[in-house]
Amino acid sequence: MPVSVAARRTRLLLGGALALVTGLAAPAAVTPPAVAAPASAAASAHPLATAFAAAAARYDVPRDLLVALGYAESRLDMHAGAPSASGGYGLMHLVHNPAVHTLDEAARLTGLGQPALRTDPAANVLGAAAVLRSYADQAGLDRADRADVDHWYAAIARYGGATDPAVARLYADTVYDLLRAGVSAVHGVAVAARPVAPQRGALERAATPGEIGTLSTDYGPAAWAPASTSNYTVASRPSSHPIRYVVIHVTQGSYAGSISWFQNPSAQVSAHYTFRSSDGAVTQSVREKDIAWHAGNWTYNTQSIGIEHEGYVDDPAWFTDAMYRASAALTRNVADKYGIPKDRQHIIGHVEVPGATHTDPGPNWNWTYYMQLVQGITGIGSGTVSTPSSTLNVRSGPGTSYAVVGTVADGTRVSIYCQAVGTTVTGTYGTSNIWNRIGTNRYVSDAYVLTGYDGFIPNVPRC
Ligand SMILES: [Zn+2]
Repeated sequence: MPVSVAARRTRLLLGGALALVTGLAAPAAVTPPAVAAPASAAASAHPLATAFAAAAARYDVPRDLLVALGYAESRLDMHAGAPSASGGYGLMHLVHNPAVHTLDEAARLTGLGQPALRTDPAANVLGAAAVLRSYADQAGLDRADRADVDHWYAAIARYGGATDPAVARLYADTVYDLLRAGVSAVHGVAVAARPVAPQRGALERAATPGEIGTLSTDYGPAAWAPASTSNYTVASRPSSHPIRYVVIHVTQGSYAGSISWFQNPSAQVSAHYTFRSSDGAVTQSVREKDIAWHAGNWTYNTQSIGIEHEGYVDDPAWFTDAMYRASAALTRNVADKYGIPKDRQHIIGHVEVPGATHTDPGPNWNWTYYMQLVQGITGIGSGTVSTPSSTLNVRSGPGTSYAVVGTVADGTRVSIYCQAVGTTVTGTYGTSNIWNRIGTNRYVSDAYVLTGYDGFIPNVPRC
């Protein structure tokens, strides 16, 4: 995440404490009557599944809509109560910053204290449901309207807090895209895919999906959503200042939320580019000639391009192959344009900037893979799984000591994004210590995959 040399915001860390709310306070008078969740569903469900069911019932907000919003914001992770870059808390990202006050609204509507809303998952979900219901009431939605997710678009867009209509639409479209595609189980919570036809109202004309306003003039694939002029310094680089570095960040927030934050004059931070986790889409917020406030070090700010990646440093689920590949293509472009060496002395993490107070991109960022992509080793291999069993285990890392996170059936054709050395395994094709990454944090032993190569596949990156 970015930080300006002038930023003096204090980051409230709660020491990982998860305050358990043993008895949720009675809702305030403005809330609707409580409706009991089905006892049979609540009895055996995961606590988070129970929390979503209870919040949906109490405030009459579609349960799947709540889950999709939470997944878009946090992948349903609480981050131990630590705030996002824009001052948002918990899996539903209840915000307290100079422009957005959903945390405060949630406290008023539910009667719950802010510590519980920030740190307890059930309270956090309940608070978000209360805020959304209040927005729906203010928009005139009646009971029948509330039963249909398509009527909630304006409430979702308002919850995101973006002032730019195009970014507000980007935020809400992300939630509806998740409803359309479905969400696979995270912490015991899933959403089935469904058709959606969101009623966008005034935002229908704000932008087309996947694009924000006009396109970047610096980098063809990027959309353009300019940061507030309060959040960067106008310059005429590279003539005014040499561009010597690319600084890699992780947003500590969502894609749309980060782009929106850079448009908020109170942020006092910005980055040149931000990438989306799900598909590698990219938006530019500051022209490359100008100085974004991201590195927390004025010299490095003046001499660098700052690139943000949607996600949180403590959750590897955000760091997809799509995002790595799209980001590496930009870094490669920038390095060629300004003569920046494609090495780790010049393509650095925020944590490596002298005096850095931030840890991003963190230990889950795969530098080996990223740098190979930046250096032009960008192939994607493929192979066919062959196992005497009906399925082959998929593990979270390159070895048998990593957790099993799924299986692939015998005969499946798999894409191979990178290859790593790991545990030695003897399988269908002999003995090998090579593991193939077939998806985000998903590896299979090469001893069971026919790739046509005995060893590493040429032009496929190491990871
Ligand atoms: Zn950073």
